[in-house]
Amino acid sequence: MGLNCTFCNESVINSDPSKGHPVSIAPYGVAHSYCAQQDLLYKRVFQGVRIAELDHQSFLELKEMVLTEDNVRSGMTNHVDLF
Ligand SMILES: [Zn+2]
Repeated sequence: MGLNCTFCNESVINSDPSKGHPVSIAPYGVAHSYCAQQDLLYKRVFQGVRIAELDHQSFLELKEMVLTEDNVRSGMTNHVDLF
């Protein structure tokens, strides 16, 4: 927790004015308005995957994989047991 930008990780307080003003990005925290705007442009492309262009089935598979990986990394479970 803190007042560091979600995207560039620098403090939003007394920061470079070119990064814009502090904005709240729920549920992540705070960010510079400039950084948040930049993120909007790119966030639907991840590691070369254009998420917005996936068909519905592929998107569901990606979502499942992410959720499963999150569970494993959280140490909550070592097997697929989402329900
Ligand atoms: Zn920033």
